[in-house]
Amino acid sequence: MAKLVDFSYLDSKTIAMSASKYGTPHYIYDERLILENCKKALSMPNAFGLNIRYAMKANSNRTLLKIIHSSGLMLDSSSMNEVRRAVLAGLPLKDILLTTQELPSGEDLNELKKMILDGLKYNVCSLNQLYNIGDFAAENKVNLSIRIHPGKGSGESATRNTGDNYSCFGIHLSDIEQAFRYAKEKGIVFDMVHTHIGSGGDPEAWKKNIDFELDIIEKHFPDVKSVNFGGGLKIARMPDEKAADIEELGLYARDRIEAFYKKTGRKLLMEVEPGTFIIGQAGFIVTKVMDKKSTGENGFNFLVLDGGMELNTRPLLYAARHPFHVVSKEGDLLSSEFNNEGKKFTAIPVGRCCESGDSQSLDAAGLTIPRKMGEPQVGDYFVIGGCGAYCSSMSPMNYNSHEQEAEILFTKDGDLKVIRRKQSLLQMLENEA
Ligand SMILES: *Cc1c(COP(=O)(O)O)cnc(C)c1O
Repeated sequence: MAKLVDFSYLDSKTIAMSASKYGTPHYIYDERLILENCKKALSMPNAFGLNIRYAMKANSNRTLLKIIHSSGLMLDSSSMNEVRRAVLAGLPLKDILLTTQELPSGEDLNELKKMILDGLKYNVCSLNQLYNIGDFAAENKVNLSIRIHPGKGSGESATRNTGDNYSCFGIHLSDIEQAFRYAKEKGIVFDMVHTHIGSGGDPEAWKKNIDFELDIIEKHFPDVKSVNFGGGLKIARMPDEKAADIEELGLYARDRIEAFYKKTGRKLLMEVEPGTFIIGQAGFIVTKVMDKKSTGENGFNFLVLDGGMELNTRPLLYAARHPFHVVSKEGDLLSSEFNNEGKKFTAIPVGRCCESGDSQSLDAAGLTIPRKMGEPQVGDYFVIGGCGAYCSSMSPMNYNSHEQEAEILFTKDGDLKVIRRKQSLLQMLENEA
């Protein structure tokens, strides 16, 4: 049995079986790896306790939410609908934090208030969000969390940096005094301070942010009991990438929180909100090579896959790099991104959409990059790795009228289970007049 990559339990035979059973393309998730990642996150060193909140926008399938929640993780949600979705999956509001750009009004605001009374933790992310909920929070004596815009962030690209001044997540430092004055006037208590500086950024920036947050808490927030450092822990999808060291980050945070305690006598609970770290490596997209073409002697080889940007838009959106694994119809591993030695064939994998940017191998300018691999035949499988996070949940599905594709779970017992059926053409059209 040939594993696709050594950290995953998925092997080429299982890929071929899944493809012939459920058709292609589809997403497939490795439950054992998800469970291992949850465990790793929970074992992060800490001083006075740790909550790990899974950032559910990374992948919100209800089966996955349940698996992750029952491993002991709480949730961070990015919209009212994400909260509703988690509740529909059976997760309790008391384990959910809402960190959103939305400013709810009318029925939504009433529902938000009810959710808060039922245990939802609300993380105010703007002055208007604070004013919107202020009287209610004061009257009902519910404590709030506050997301602070640190003015300095770090991400894998500008589009994933949420802390610099060209993005607007959280209450900017320049508005902090105002928030603080308002809260004091109303008698609102902030019991958590939150930042999220970006996704997949520099671990050193993540550490700096720890110091920044503790400093703010010391200066401005006497009632804060928890400090939330956000998510953004980098993973290594490609062989030449380096993952953030969660152990090292935890040790750093522990030291700082202990030093804070020595100085202030206050014991802070630490919260971390990884999305990618939990599920990024555990998801794969299984596609089939539908066609092979070339653009001549001075051109390139192309593999036309039966799925691409409409399942994973990350390469097109921010030149994200994903590993490729080639599996024969019979289930033999023809190449893994992590073992391409001696492979002479190079090709550009493209999808089926009418966009020259529909490739899983693009540079920042949107140009396709040929890649080395074992040569597949038409009908063989082309598997894209690192697709657990921000693929299914962020896909421009239905472009070119392709249906939203199925999600399959490779369970911890080694079975294959459909956790979301493929959409039908009629479902795609059902709301049209
Ligand atoms: C997206 C997001 C996360 C998770 O980011 P990852 O890079 O997937 O770990 C955590 N917290 C907040 C507030 C987010 O918006």
